[in-house]
Amino acid sequence: MAAEQLRTRRQTRAAVLDRLLATGGLFRPQLATDCNLTEVSISRILADLREEGLVEEIRRPAPYPGGPTQIVTLAQDQWIAGLTLANRRLSFGTATLGGDIAYLERLPLADLTDRPALAATFAQAIDALCRWCGARGVVPLRIGVSIPGLREPPDAPNPITALDAAAISAMLEAAFPTVPHGLVNAVAARAAAHLFGPGSEPIATRHLFVHLGRGIGGAWVEPVTAAAPIRPIEFGHVVVERHGPACRCGHRGCLETFASAGAIGRIFGVPEAEMIAADNDWLRLVRMTARRRVLMADALHRVGLAIGNVLNIMPVSLVAISGWPSTLPEDQRTALRQGIEDSVFGGTAALQVPLRFLPSTLGSDPRPALAWAMHELVRDGGLAPRREEARRVAG
Ligand SMILES: [Zn+2]
Repeated sequence: MAAEQLRTRRQTRAAVLDRLLATGGLFRPQLATDCNLTEVSISRILADLREEGLVEEIRRPAPYPGGPTQIVTLAQDQWIAGLTLANRRLSFGTATLGGDIAYLERLPLADLTDRPALAATFAQAIDALCRWCGARGVVPLRIGVSIPGLREPPDAPNPITALDAAAISAMLEAAFPTVPHGLVNAVAARAAAHLFGPGSEPIATRHLFVHLGRGIGGAWVEPVTAAAPIRPIEFGHVVVERHGPACRCGHRGCLETFASAGAIGRIFGVPEAEMIAADNDWLRLVRMTARRRVLMADALHRVGLAIGNVLNIMPVSLVAISGWPSTLPEDQRTALRQGIEDSVFGGTAALQVPLRFLPSTLGSDPRPALAWAMHELVRDGGLAPRREEARRVAG
């Protein structure tokens, strides 16, 4: 079929691996249908992927008389590794391709601006990871590293951490010379976990992903077969109030100063660290009053205005939001919808873009980095990264 011929081998394999990751396993005919592949093509691709140890076929009772009996899943005995810098610590570990964590350690890192301490902690973590893998004869297929505030190029100013990204990359290269690794902006890693991870729907056209946590970040998310399915964009430092509060970036009145988890915590008298630690449960920490509800609605409205203005420039088929607003009851999120309505040309009715709030089902760090490692593996169709991308930092 035409659609199939237009895709490269890498893209076709990416589509197959993407569906297996999202569903946890499919009968072969369903997998062929979902990936728009013929029986012949799916057989050839699965034979290759099985040969390479990336997928397995497990015998299962047929779903109906005469139905298929082989369910295809990602291999259970292959590994990915990840390091996530978040929540004042460096968390790292390994997981199966299906996401079951086998090894997890966390090292405290109180000060993200202390460059020597950051390098020493990363060196310690990479050494521990290397020893864990060595003792078990495990060679991870990919290593992901999630870093808050990371930008392209890797030495671009980072408002959150003084980490030397190139030095971390060199350490990984020395410890795991045969394993491709990817350093990624923390928001892009979250986008990978939410929109390409287990339970995700296939993505056909561009989405906008926005996360509101310690910072506010955004990303364009496109089909897994796109050249760059996830591209982070600046979002938190959109200036929304000329004489607003001073921001850590040096400007005044950035969106982040009104709507980050820390800014919302200030409305309720809850410290930022407690807001972040409480994750989905933050509403239990706060006492809602009429005045506080108005202040929170103002913050959500500003987020909505910023999103609406982005949509005026770049249309998308879905806006996905994660972070603190996801926990709110629907009636307390209307200000965000209203902000979009007030800034999108012709209103949201004309635009017809659904808005989806994603509950924080990620679990804790190092999940984002593990999700990124898996995303890179799937995106590359399980093949080695293309040469020009191998040293590239995504983010
Ligand atoms: Zn700023």
